[in-house]
Amino acid sequence: MQRPATPRSSCLSRRQVLRRSCEKFIAGAALGVSPFATYRHSHAQQGSATPPDKISDSQSASSPESLSVVDFRNEAGKQTSVDGRILVRATDGGLLVEDRAGRLWTIPMRHLDGVNSTDRPFQLLTADQLGNTLVSEARSAGIDAEFSVHETDHYVIAASTPHVYSEWTGQLLERMQIAFRSYWKNRHFELHSAPASLPVLILSDQTQFAKMAEFDRTPASAQGQGYFLVTANRVVLFDLTAQDGLVPATNIAEIQRRVQQTPASVATVVHEAVHQIAFNQGMHRRYADNPLWLTEGMAMYFEAPDLQSRRGWSTIGRVNPGRLSRFRDFLKSDRKATSIETLVQDNSRFADPEQAIDAYAEAWALTYFLIRTQARKYVDYLKTVAQKQPLVWDTPAERLSEFQAAFGSDVAELDRDFLNFTDRLK
Ligand SMILES: [Zn+2]
Repeated sequence: MQRPATPRSSCLSRRQVLRRSCEKFIAGAALGVSPFATYRHSHAQQGSATPPDKISDSQSASSPESLSVVDFRNEAGKQTSVDGRILVRATDGGLLVEDRAGRLWTIPMRHLDGVNSTDRPFQLLTADQLGNTLVSEARSAGIDAEFSVHETDHYVIAASTPHVYSEWTGQLLERMQIAFRSYWKNRHFELHSAPASLPVLILSDQTQFAKMAEFDRTPASAQGQGYFLVTANRVVLFDLTAQDGLVPATNIAEIQRRVQQTPASVATVVHEAVHQIAFNQGMHRRYADNPLWLTEGMAMYFEAPDLQSRRGWSTIGRVNPGRLSRFRDFLKSDRKATSIETLVQDNSRFADPEQAIDAYAEAWALTYFLIRTQARKYVDYLKTVAQKQPLVWDTPAERLSEFQAAFGSDVAELDRDFLNFTDRLK
């Protein structure tokens, strides 16, 4: 066993080196932010990811391809071991490790017992292994139910629902993923393939779902219909057909009939799935400084479900009446002249329960405006954000200046165009 190696010379920029710190990241976790941050549907308000923005000195990534065994004590002081690849070694000694299930671990130096580098290559779990891991996580959460695992081209779905519900969800997700990728390909942003199947857990009812949310340390998510847990890279849902005391649907046609009564709930499924694709196919990077207005705006732009087509996805970019109406209410109440600036410079409006719903509505409206009127600039900005490295946090001034570099320095003028555009939306 050995202590972490002295950091090698790094290809990181000086700014990145100065900012990276595991210790600060963990400090953020104590406030209920980044490591356990979830991306959830905006109707369920949340104190969402607000990374710590000031960091001490820091350091380099190690070779990402070899498997290391990292021994540490968890927050409760229990000895734990993770097999994975080290993505970042911070200069304060902390590590960011990805395990074979794709879960990210931030381990501060003070909790670290040792790191054994092996000669073996790092490999993500196979789909079968990932399915077993999902089931065992659900069992660890105290969910004592029968599970089945359903694999599709791009997903591993472990579910305590009737198998047909996994099939229906798999078809929905696959169809949406094809449409999402093709939408961006047509706009010159080609997503890469995810390195492994994407994990989805579907629970049979809201009670099990709430247990899982508790286990995932995101209890506020229990009020919603789904969440994407950035840490574990997994989407968690529950059977939308089993509500109000109904027995679960037993065939696809019945599922279709029932979910058409609750399009907002299906929108949550799509919303969370968009987050997962975006974070796994090169649009955003987990644990990097992704502006929330951008990640949430993206998920909301695509969230309207298309329940009719067998192929394709006809609802992309449809005006979202709920978000638009909320945004118009916000315009009539206390929207400030600097609203775009405060929305993009940090995530604080999303973290404040008093302001979160308006922030989501404005993020949808701004995203809609930019994609519809300045798609090329928007795609360039997406590509810039996609390059951000884990555990490197921008200051509000840097966030704003990156936004201005993409969309123009005169934010007041942009705001006028934005309001004229949204005023005409129907
Ligand atoms: Zn979201």
